[in-house]
Amino acid sequence: MSFGPLRKVSDPPIKVIRVYPVTPVSSVVKIFVHGSSQRNRLFGREFTELSLGGRVPFEWTNVSATACGRQDASTYQLPLHWIRFAMSTDADVIVIGAGVSGLAAAAALTKSGRKVLILEARDWLGGRVLTRQDPVCQAPIEFGAEFIHGLAPGIWKPFQKRNVNISEVAGDNWCCEGGTLSSCDFFSEVEDILEKMDDRSPDESFASFLQRCFPDSKQNTKQQAAKERALEYVSGFNAADPELVGVHWLVKGMRAEEEIEGDRAFRPATGYACLIDIFLDELSHADVSIQTGTVVEEIEWEHGHSTVKAHSPEGVRNFTAPRTIVTLPLAVLQAAPPELGAVRFIPSLPEPKLKALTKLEMGKVIRVVLRFRHRFWDTISPRSKRSKTLAGMSFLFSQDQWFPTWWTTLPSKLPIITGWAPFRSAERLSGRDRSFVVAHSLQSLGALVDIAAQDLEPLLEAAYFHDWQSDPFSRGAYSYGKVGADGAQEALASPVEDTLFFAGEATDTTGRNGTVDGAIASGRRVTAEILRCTRPHHATQK
Ligand SMILES: Cc1cc2nc3c(=O)[nH]c(=O)nc-3n(C[C@H](O)[C@H](O)[C@H](O)COP(=O)(O)OP(=O)(O)OC[C@H]3O[C@@H](n4cnc5c(N)ncnc54)[C@H](O)[C@@H]3O)c2cc1C
Repeated sequence: MSFGPLRKVSDPPIKVIRVYPVTPVSSVVKIFVHGSSQRNRLFGREFTELSLGGRVPFEWTNVSATACGRQDASTYQLPLHWIRFAMSTDADVIVIGAGVSGLAAAAALTKSGRKVLILEARDWLGGRVLTRQDPVCQAPIEFGAEFIHGLAPGIWKPFQKRNVNISEVAGDNWCCEGGTLSSCDFFSEVEDILEKMDDRSPDESFASFLQRCFPDSKQNTKQQAAKERALEYVSGFNAADPELVGVHWLVKGMRAEEEIEGDRAFRPATGYACLIDIFLDELSHADVSIQTGTVVEEIEWEHGHSTVKAHSPEGVRNFTAPRTIVTLPLAVLQAAPPELGAVRFIPSLPEPKLKALTKLEMGKVIRVVLRFRHRFWDTISPRSKRSKTLAGMSFLFSQDQWFPTWWTTLPSKLPIITGWAPFRSAERLSGRDRSFVVAHSLQSLGALVDIAAQDLEPLLEAAYFHDWQSDPFSRGAYSYGKVGADGAQEALASPVEDTLFFAGEATDTTGRNGTVDGAIASGRRVTAEILRCTRPHHATQK
């Protein structure tokens, strides 16, 4: 990224209308400005500390555009009082949560002339879409979502409209069994088993389905191996407990995947944050205010009126609007006040919604991204196949107890590899400090590719991870349906008295829970629900 010379803007045709950080810690603040000559341009700057809601405790230095791969060499210095001006809270609809679903809903509502106020607990936007740039490789590092699963139009359209470069995941799959690495066709083996599930018989857990369909697999080693891979798949990709996850929910997901070629996976070249930039860019033309660092604690509602009480950098504040969209992650909705992030509804949510909450579960994942000095696996030849190296490796599957799944960045040949610790492994790692997580990831990777962890350590240059389970504003990775969850997403999604509306990946009713495209679909659905029952109306801040 190039920074141009600092330019003082003293004439006020430029008016800052919103300010927000888009990534955590040493991240970039993006500012939308508008004015006679600068209409709707996007700027960003590095910062170390930021407090929104009226105070921005840093000096402006380098400010430059970083939206979606586009760069703007101009830099600006902006007076702080313009930033304070940004904090307008007048709205028709309050959106709680600035993840993909909240931003998608806000973008669509504002397009239809509604004023929107977004309240976000964290100091970054995008929720479980969280990308940072690796300074050495200049490559995106994902802490949350990484893959575009299949060709869901809801997610492809925005990318295509902006000509975002998207690459399909490529390479070979390897499996490590009993310490031996061999290339494997992991997905087709698993598919053979998954295809036997059906949703016409009574619902049961995936573990019980496996037991019922393959009771004697211990005598049949091939079948036993396939069964174990199927378990790895469900606990790995769905981050689900096989004893809890419902076959009906899995079947619904598989059907939805078939419609979009969900077995194909892609990545946006500049990282998933690009999608957040696209929404923010759309919002830059709109009547919207975003308040970060604002933790919603209570929603008091009656027909046609909602008061949202939140803890903001300026203390406790109440926001009112005729309608509120709740996009809280499932486990945050399930949490009981006064736990941080949990929200008290007054009066309480209707019984069917509370029941739906008991039928859904938050999957757990710890992912760690490791950058090495070089791609050391390029020269590793597994004992089973000396003629082939791991240079073309995409995924590596195993039953390692800490990080059973790994993947490289192919087709990009970067010295970066990602470890994936789902379900039980995530439970063991959650809440542990960084050195514990990184040490175990090195141990796992080393054991799988037959290199001692102490030999890998000197090659490691950077490690990235975020503990989504211990984060009070996600409390897990993504949702799944338990046995008997038929209709639970619909119940969770359904509006309450045309006043409270519900979006977020867990409320997706199309079989795409736990994905970014599911979150977008829920944002679009909730927008349609609101537009059906509203005329523009304004909110006030007390
Ligand atoms: C490790 C990991 C890997 C993933 N990989 C993929 C992938 O490869 N592909 C894919 O499609 N999906 C993936 N996902 C799932 C995907 O990221 C989510 O489904 C999607 O981002 C959810 O969007 P959302 O808007 O529903 O929720 P969120 O993004 O969680 O947004 C909810 C927002 O609400 C805010 N909030 C919470 N509590 C409060 C409160 N009390 N007050 C105010 N705000 C609050 C949160 O801070 C958050 O910003 C992954 C997720 C994780 C964690």
